[in-house]
Amino acid sequence: MIHLKNIVKTYADDIHALRGINLHIAPGSIYGIIGLSGAGKSTLIRCINMLERPTSGEVLVGGRDLMQMSEAELREERRHIGMIFQHFNLLSSATVYDNVAFPLRLAGKSADEIRPKVTELLALVGLADKADAYPSHLSGGQKQRVGIARALAGDPQVLLCDEATSALDPQTTKSILALIRDINRRLGLTVVVITHEMQVIKDICDRVAVLDGGVIAEEGDVVDVFTAPRAPITQEFISVLLSNDLPSAFRGNPIEQSPSAGSYMLLRLTFLGERADDPVLAEMIRRFPRVEVTMLFGTLDQIKEQPFGRMIIGMRGAPADIDAAIAYLSEQHLKQEVIGYVRRNDAPAL
Ligand code: ADP
Repeated sequence: MIHLKNIVKTYADDIHALRGINLHIAPGSIYGIIGLSGAGKSTLIRCINMLERPTSGEVLVGGRDLMQMSEAELREERRHIGMIFQHFNLLSSATVYDNVAFPLRLAGKSADEIRPKVTELLALVGLADKADAYPSHLSGGQKQRVGIARALAGDPQVLLCDEATSALDPQTTKSILALIRDINRRLGLTVVVITHEMQVIKDICDRVAVLDGGVIAEEGDVVDVFTAPRAPITQEFISVLLSNDLPSAFRGNPIEQSPSAGSYMLLRLTFLGERADDPVLAEMIRRFPRVEVTMLFGTLDQIKEQPFGRMIIGMRGAPADIDAAIAYLSEQHLKQEVIGYVRRNDAPAL
């Protein structure tokens, strides 16, 4: 649906905001772009509807090359690319109804065409009873619902979300993300989300690109990127989310690459799908009673609708017993990774 080919954007004063971005966003998917502040996210999303003209490269939306279009053609094209914003960008002096009707009036639609469309859109976003309210009387979540209804007024094929939940509290964020996913499914809309929050990516995106200094550091299926992040910047985003800090009994001790007397092997386990509920670990402890296992960190979460668990355990015992226990985990198709070896503060060495 969206093809970006070698997009470069250089601002005056030699600011290289984008340094050659290649992306392919499949029709009907939800695509996330994550990065720290200044990474180039806003510039990139604004290149998709040409609010920002790339210095060079190709922007193909639905097979049409936006770089070759005149301003008039672009205005027409943008009617089919909806956009929502962090601060909603509503007209404060207009009612909810008039905010949603605004793009339809601009497109020259008659009042008789506009009425059923606005009514349908307000019902879709759960604001049927707020048509006559003014934005100042709405909560943040309700304002973003108006923004979404307005963005959908032109029956777009693409919805661009520019930090759309960054000004909202976590509960409202969840409800807006659920609405975006619902719209994506019901209308078959292609959605592009930019955010600095991994939680947003995890909740609704199918694929993700990690932007760093105007280049894509990593790109892939969300489940793959979450379970096996490759780029250091991605690992950082994920570790913030999972807060993989060791408990205080281990904190402050260096994590070493090889075992020493009395140290624990730190093992990171990832459970995915139905395995997340499996009592694999309990079974391992039962089968290998000579291996001492201590749970250091655990979280059960969801990536989209798949259960996803992460756990860090410490193990110590005779090397042969530990090898056998790890072999057992491998047989159970548990993804595992040895982080290193660490000693406990409060326990004497064996
Ligand atoms: P993000 O959305 O990830 O925070 P931006 O796309 O806003 O990143 O910015 C990327 C880089 O481009 C930054 O260094 C920023 O200062 C610069 N930049 C963005 N917009 C402009 C502009 N209109 N003029 C000059 N520099 C800009």
